[in-house]
Amino acid sequence: MHVTSSQFSDRAKDAISNEQLQAGLFIFGKIFPLLRDATASQLPEFEALRDNARDIKVHTLQNLGTYLEAFEARVTQAGGRVHWARTALEANSIVERLCKEAGAKNIIKSKSMVTEELELNDHLIGKGYDVVETDLGEYIIQLRHEKPFHIVGPALHLTAAQVSDTFYEAHQKHGRTQKVDDKVKLVEEARIVLRERFKNADVGITGANFLVAETGQIALITNEGNADLSATLPKKHIVVTGIEKVVPTLDDMAVLLRILARSATGQETSNYVSLYSGPRRERDADGPAEFDVVLVDNGRTDMLGTPVEDMLRCIRCGACLNSCPVFTTVGGQTYGSVYSGPMGAVWTPALASVSSAAKLPNASTFCGKCEDVCPVRIPLPSMMRHWREKEFEAHLTPSGQRWGLGVWAWLGQRPSLYRAATNLAGIGLRLIARPRRGAPVASWLPFIGKGWTQSRDLAVPKEPTFLSQYKEGRRR
Ligand code: SF4
Repeated sequence: MHVTSSQFSDRAKDAISNEQLQAGLFIFGKIFPLLRDATASQLPEFEALRDNARDIKVHTLQNLGTYLEAFEARVTQAGGRVHWARTALEANSIVERLCKEAGAKNIIKSKSMVTEELELNDHLIGKGYDVVETDLGEYIIQLRHEKPFHIVGPALHLTAAQVSDTFYEAHQKHGRTQKVDDKVKLVEEARIVLRERFKNADVGITGANFLVAETGQIALITNEGNADLSATLPKKHIVVTGIEKVVPTLDDMAVLLRILARSATGQETSNYVSLYSGPRRERDADGPAEFDVVLVDNGRTDMLGTPVEDMLRCIRCGACLNSCPVFTTVGGQTYGSVYSGPMGAVWTPALASVSSAAKLPNASTFCGKCEDVCPVRIPLPSMMRHWREKEFEAHLTPSGQRWGLGVWAWLGQRPSLYRAATNLAGIGLRLIARPRRGAPVASWLPFIGKGWTQSRDLAVPKEPTFLSQYKEGRRR
C-alpha cells in the first residue's frame, strides 16, 4: 500500500485554504451525520443492534479460521474457487493469472476499498489490461488519476463543473464531443459510456461487503447497481476481499445490514442488496460461467491478538469520518492513504507501518465522537493512542515534543511548581497571542514550541483556568 502520510501537515494547510473543498466537506460533516442520527432515532433497537453487531464480529474474529474454511467449502460446493493471498503482491498475481486464464482484455470493476489497498488497477493496467471503474464516483476519480476522497463518497468533494471538464476531456474518444454541464446529463453521459464497457467486458471484479460462511455467499451492497452488472454480465466474476468480511450466518449478516446503510448514508437500506454464490447453474437466467474469490490477508492476521484487533470489525460505513472534526476540515486526500479519517488512522499503520503513517494517529482531537457513532463500537481513540505510544517508543516523535512531554511529566509530579509554571505560561501566551489592533503580537512560538505552532494556531488560553475553577469548586 503506497502511503504518503508524511506530507499530511502541508496538504492540510492547502485543504483548509481551499474554499471549494471546504464547501464539499459540508456534506460529510453536516448532512451525513444529520441523516445518520435521524434514521437511527427512528429505529428503537438501533443501540441493541450495535451491541449485537459488535458481538457477532468479536465472535467471528475469535473463530476466523473456522468460518473462512466453512465459507471456502460452500463456495467450492457451488462450483466456485477460493484463492488465499497472504500479501498484496500475491493477491494481484492471482487476479492477473485468473484474468489470463479467461483470455481477458477488458475488465470492469465495482468499487472496492481492498482493491484500492492492493493497487490492483495499476497492476493490471501495467500488464496491458483495460480496466475501468464502474461506480460513478470511482469512475470520475479514475479519470482524474486521484485517490478516493471518502470510502463511501469517493468524488463527492468535486463540483459539477470539475466533473464536466473531466468528462469532456475523457469522453471525446467515445464520440461525446459536446460539453455537458447539467448534473443529470453528466450522469446520463457516464451511463452511456459505461454501458458499452459493461457489454464488452470479459471479467468483472468486485469486492464484497460480507462473506456468509453458512451458505458460501458473498454480499454486494450498493446504490448504483453497477456491482450487479459487474458480477453478472462478464463470463468471469472475481471477488477480491479481505478475510475479515466473513460472518457466520445469514441472520448475522442481516444484523450488520440493518446498521450499515443507516450509519453510512442515513438510508434505511441501500438500493441494491445482492447475494451471489458460485457460477451460473443450468436453471439460472444469467450469471458468470466462472466464479473466483480471492481472500486477502495483507497484514490482517498480524492484527489478531494485538491492541488493534478490534479494527477488523470495521464494516466500512464511513460514519467515523463524517463525525471527525479533523477529517471534515481537511478531507480524505490529505491523509495520503486509501483509508482516511479515524479508521484510516488505525488501519494505515497496521497495514503499512508506524513510521510511514505516524502523522495519522496524531490527526485527532480525541473528542471520541468516532467511537460514539461506530456501528460496531470500535474503540478508535484508544487504538490511535496505541499507535502514538508505538511512535514514541520508536523515537519517531519530534525531539521537541518528546522533551516537552518530559518536562510536563516532571512538573506534573510537583503540583506547586506545575501551578506556577502553567500560570506563567498562561500569562505569557495571553501577552503574545491575544490580538491587539486586529493582530496578535506573534502567531508562533520559538524553541520547544516551534514544532507545535508550525501546524497549529497559537491559541489564547481561556480564563479562568481549569485549576482555578476547580479550586473555587465550580467544576467537580
Ligand atoms: S471504524 Fe466504525 S464508523 Fe469507521 S468506517 Fe469502520 S465501522 Fe464505520
